Amino acid sequence: MDDRKLNSSFIFLTLGVFFAFILVLGFLWFFNIFGVSALVNIFFLVFSLILTLIFLVLVGGFLGIWLLIRNNRIPFILQTPMVLTVNYFMGFVIKIGQLFGFSREKLQRNYINLTNKLVKSLRLRFSPEDILVLAPHCIQKANCPHRITHDLNNCNRCGECQIGNLTEMQEELDFRLAVVSGGTGARQVVKKMKPRAIVAIACERDLMSGIQDVFPHPVLGVVNIRPDGPCLNTEVDWTELETAIKSLCKGVG
Ligand code: SF4
Repeated sequence: MDDRKLNSSFIFLTLGVFFAFILVLGFLWFFNIFGVSALVNIFFLVFSLILTLIFLVLVGGFLGIWLLIRNNRIPFILQTPMVLTVNYFMGFVIKIGQLFGFSREKLQRNYINLTNKLVKSLRLRFSPEDILVLAPHCIQKANCPHRITHDLNNCNRCGECQIGNLTEMQEELDFRLAVVSGGTGARQVVKKMKPRAIVAIACERDLMSGIQDVFPHPVLGVVNIRPDGPCLNTEVDWTELETAIKSLCKGVG
């Protein structure tokens, strides 16, 4: 199933479940089927109204997602519902998708594609020094003797891994670059450096949780390549990375 069909099917599925939930609550409130007190009735009313409000935000958000997938553009009025939907509701959508047999990795990759499209559609541009590129430690060759997590200058750019290329690109474009050993390290670096935008290289799971953790920072995620399995001698698609960084840089590309 291609990305569009996958996105559309699990989005409509989730909306269906949510709508059914609201109908049940409305039914309970309207008919007061338990014959209970006015207080319980008020509870049902308030609960139904809150759910209806969330539902309207989700409708706007999913409409925005649908337009983004189809046209690569969303109307300004749908941007806020879409940002809220993507950051607070998509985890739930992924869980539902898993219940229906979709692969978690594939759904997470869809989520990352979607947030990338959303960030790109906003056409944000920043000075390079406001952009932080986060790379995982496992991108360094496993047998490299140089310690680069604290000081990237320790890399002698031997060409065995892409750390050397990354430091060269950093010198050329002047963004900030950090190599981190996991999600906690990444969050600490973001807290310390206070970037305005982030380009992150990681696996699907770390990217998805990272994007949600640093919200509302705009993040472009680049899923790593894992020829030797997870967390070992990983790589990154250079063109994809370069395009992502340049798309956020003011006056570049
Ligand atoms: S490019 Fe740098 S980090 Fe990578 S193996 Fe060579 S010296 Fe080590």
